[in-house]
Amino acid sequence: PLTTADLIEEHRICVCVRKRPLNKKELSVKDLDVITIPSKDVVMVHEPKQKVDLTRYLENQTFRFDYAFDDSTTNEMVYRFTARPLVETIFERGMATCFAYGQTGSGKTHTMGGDFSGKNQDLTRDVFLMLKKPNYKKLDLQVYATFFEIYSGKVFDLLNRKAKLRVLEDGKQQVQVVGLQEKEVKCTEDVLKLIEVGNSCRTSGQTSANAHSSRSHAVFQIILRRKGKMHGKFSLIDLAGNERGADTSSADRQTRLEGAEINKSLLALKECIRALGRNKPHTPFRASKLTQVLRDSFIGENSRTCMIATISPGMTSCENTLNTLRYANRWE
Ligand code: ADP
Ligand code: MG
Repeated sequence: PLTTADLIEEHRICVCVRKRPLNKKELSVKDLDVITIPSKDVVMVHEPKQKVDLTRYLENQTFRFDYAFDDSTTNEMVYRFTARPLVETIFERGMATCFAYGQTGSGKTHTMGGDFSGKNQDLTRDVFLMLKKPNYKKLDLQVYATFFEIYSGKVFDLLNRKAKLRVLEDGKQQVQVVGLQEKEVKCTEDVLKLIEVGNSCRTSGQTSANAHSSRSHAVFQIILRRKGKMHGKFSLIDLAGNERGADTSSADRQTRLEGAEINKSLLALKECIRALGRNKPHTPFRASKLTQVLRDSFIGENSRTCMIATISPGMTSCENTLNTLRYANRWE
């Protein structure tokens, strides 16, 4: 039988899958749905239900997760089952982290509330509500936000005109992103304003917003401080498209390097989350810039992580979808 300690342990990592509906483009090319969510924790990949001339044979495969959200699930529902249960963690001196992982176009940014603004309204609303509870009110906590991106192994501050930042590790293994702007926020509107600034800064000068976001990880954090000292931190992370890992065979050198970096960081991320789940003393956080800057989210007794793997329903995406499901599937 499970003890309370087992339950806490078990819930340190929550892995979910979210399927989006077929979009206009997929419908216009008569792409077919190959994903079924038969119960609230199972995802099935199968041949299309419509009989068609299949160019390839798709073997039925079943995956189990903590939650599987079908294409009718709203952002609000996803939030309620993923990030919402972690809010209390940061008031109890802990670290909460929520990742969106998947192929470009599968719904990562949408799930993060569209560039963090929608979902973040939920998250910051709940943070500010919690702050008013008598238990926490007496702690006199201050709320700060950071917003940065990691592109090709480099950190850029989105709240400071995309300044390139150095990451330093001191003798005590503390990781510091030197000069990262932490802006104090007093209400949800303050947060939304910061997100707007960060988002406009993120894509300016880039070829296109989507092309850029597919190659970089975006990190938005809410930090609680008490008398200047860190009390808790909530990180929302919109990861680079996982299909970019395949760019390592591209003819273009820059694309190849970016692909290798993305591959490395996504693999390192999985290893670090795994170590968190096993309560291993050694976390291989140095393996990538992403895991290095998130180091304190992977250690400590009160760190909790939620991974939302987003998938496209179409037959044409099934290879990427299977890769995503396999990545999210095995944590032991
Ligand atoms: P990603 O960030 O993974 O590249 P996006 O979040 O930008 O993908 O989603 C791609 C497109 O699909 C967007 O137009 C988005 O609004 C739409 N979309 C994604 N997920 C859903 C969903 N669950 N329901 C409805 N539309 C969605
Ligand atoms: Mg996106």
